Amino acid sequence: MKKLQAIRGMNDLLPGDSAAWQYLEATVADVLQNYGYQEIRFPILEPTELFKRSIGEVTDIVEKEMYTFDDRNGDSVTLRPEGTACCVRACEQHGLLYNQTQRLWYQGPMFRYERPQKGRLRQFHQIGVETFGMDGPDIDAELLMISARLWKQLGISDAVTLQLNSLGTADARARYKEALVSYLSERKEQLDEDSQRRLDSNPLRILDSKNQDTQALLNDAPALHDFLDDDSREHFDKLKALLDSAGIQYEINPRLVRGLDYYGKTVFEWVTDKLGAQGTVCAGGRYDGLVEQLGGRATPAVGFAMGVERLILLLQELEAIPEGLNQSVDVYILAVGDVMEDAYQLGELIRDQLPHLRVMNHCGGGSFKSQMKKADRSGAEYALIIGEDEASQGMVTLKPLRVDRPQETLAIEDVAKALQA
Ligand code: ATP
Ligand code: MG
Repeated sequence: MKKLQAIRGMNDLLPGDSAAWQYLEATVADVLQNYGYQEIRFPILEPTELFKRSIGEVTDIVEKEMYTFDDRNGDSVTLRPEGTACCVRACEQHGLLYNQTQRLWYQGPMFRYERPQKGRLRQFHQIGVETFGMDGPDIDAELLMISARLWKQLGISDAVTLQLNSLGTADARARYKEALVSYLSERKEQLDEDSQRRLDSNPLRILDSKNQDTQALLNDAPALHDFLDDDSREHFDKLKALLDSAGIQYEINPRLVRGLDYYGKTVFEWVTDKLGAQGTVCAGGRYDGLVEQLGGRATPAVGFAMGVERLILLLQELEAIPEGLNQSVDVYILAVGDVMEDAYQLGELIRDQLPHLRVMNHCGGGSFKSQMKKADRSGAEYALIIGEDEASQGMVTLKPLRVDRPQETLAIEDVAKALQA
């Protein structure tokens, strides 16, 4: 029979790596809590319409990356390729945007049918942050402070840089698009194939083409910055001033546009040069038009999402994952002879008295020697050995496994105290 395999680009998270993920997730959750953000969870499957109407029909995601299928009822559903649209849908559905502000975060798997490679998967994970109801540059700055604090907490600040741009209002972008298309149309044959196609469908995306000739051509193209409306310009200037005063460094990248249609004004990416082509670990921006576009009342919004796999790769690359995370046990309890009940009672007693300790009971019997081998392999600091003689006297032997100290035999009620010491 053919061996069953996971779908290409969809990874298992194995026990050896899960501690690093838990560490990252817990660190992010802590930082977000520090800033008063609340977690929201929404389904993995949504109506296809949600993504078509938010991300945009002519974006890479909607054109060719979505996992879309008809369910048994014939309704078109899609595995979420990102969280922002879902978050807006959930907030609207439950009235969370009515006359109030929201600071929210979520995490979980996202699905995009891309070519799998390092840092690019078909099922990947994001931790996202979205805020609603605040239109000023202060909340934009707060989001960037949150991310900067997170990099500091994770010990990766030196490896990431912040790139910043303003896309202006829809009007400003429309005027810019016209100028850009007219400039590029005259030089169409010099554009790469993808960019030629985008000239009609999504000309702004040409700005972040990876093609060198196209990039060279763009050097003399009209600049988006010159088309910004006063409001966007003021917003951007104030944001920069706030970042300056917070000591957060950034580079202005006039060609940063982002691949989703709903962004306007502020956009940003945190990038690293340590991960090759997949160097963006966190990306986001302002999307003041999206809530209304999805049928709600106009509500300003800004958010970002981090790629968990890329952050884990970066942590590994920088050797920034704390040591000892993978240790699963502190104490290993051996049951030698007919003492199963006593061994379990002992285990429960210690877990009651010292809840922070990780205590593993040996299962499956076997000789003292084979049980000691397991104890050693478990990584535990201590073995607790209970044999028939010990059990009948209410005693147990405590044996240090990692330091050269003699074992001692003590009364069961004294074990917790000894372990604590
Ligand atoms: P890229 O330009 O790398 O394709 P994107 O602009 O499509 O990224 P976003 O939709 O902004 O990405 O998602 C936010 C973050 O999620 C990205 O910065 C990245 O860290 C991560 N991410 C996006 N797509 C993938 C993927 N296929 N595999 C792993 N991580 C991803
Ligand atoms: Mg992409």
